[in-house]
Amino acid sequence: MLELTFLGTGTSTGVPVIGCDCEVCQSPDPRDARLRCSVVVRTDTTTVLVDTSPDLRTQVLRDRFDRFDAVLFTHAHADHTAGLDELRRYNAIQQEHIPLWADAATAHSLRERFAYTFVDQYPVYGVIPDLVLNEIDGPFRIGDLDIQPIPVMHGRLPILGYRFGSIGYLTDVKSIPDESRELLQDLDVLILTALRQKPHAAHLALEEALAVAESVQPSYTLFTHVAHEMGRYAEVGPTLPEETMLAHDRQRIVIDDTRTDAGRVRLIPSPDSDQGG
Ligand SMILES: [Zn+2]
Ligand SMILES: [Zn+2]
Ligand SMILES: [Zn+2]
Repeated sequence: MLELTFLGTGTSTGVPVIGCDCEVCQSPDPRDARLRCSVVVRTDTTTVLVDTSPDLRTQVLRDRFDRFDAVLFTHAHADHTAGLDELRRYNAIQQEHIPLWADAATAHSLRERFAYTFVDQYPVYGVIPDLVLNEIDGPFRIGDLDIQPIPVMHGRLPILGYRFGSIGYLTDVKSIPDESRELLQDLDVLILTALRQKPHAAHLALEEALAVAESVQPSYTLFTHVAHEMGRYAEVGPTLPEETMLAHDRQRIVIDDTRTDAGRVRLIPSPDSDQGG
């Protein structure tokens, strides 16, 4: 079993945007409310968090994640890292340090910006996070979960996406080098940035994201890191090709790897998605 849960699917501001009266920000549909981007990937025995968004505390409380065996980072931008301090609670629960995995540039930035957490002193669990920072230089394994880093470009910034079994998670992407496309073959699910309709220097816009999905040919494509300018979930959804959708917060993907038939992939909507209008 491989399960991915979207903790957040919004761009750096989140949706609703502070002070905005647009129809998306005012929408009663819970699928239009997007916390900052993060996912949890879980097997039967291993749970891994990808990015520590500023909304981390809210996110783990609403879907009740009580343990993380490791935390992976895609890049150092604040919307993907600002919740780092919340990890101290996991030190207290687990009574152990939490391993972090990041590329060298992200590791450098984390050491600088969260210097107080990387001090060499005996930790009092729960006060400051006790983190061990590992620099990624190739595929690695956490428990029974194999992780393939996928280098992509976020505008001019090289960052990492990840492949977990047959799920590819590429957020904050503008372009994918050819060597990385090789790593995206035979995916059940591709998760990809689609910021909005209009082009952006550092993120794929919807048309561009659709073109990437078309060339990668996964069974399903879900778009994330979505801005309010994208439009309402219920209006954009029907315009997308088959097996292609906007992801929404709290949605889950479950892959039953003992099956080979069409039933091996299940997309489970958020528990509150039926309350929408
Ligand atoms: Zn971002
Ligand atoms: Zn708005
Ligand atoms: Zn970013």
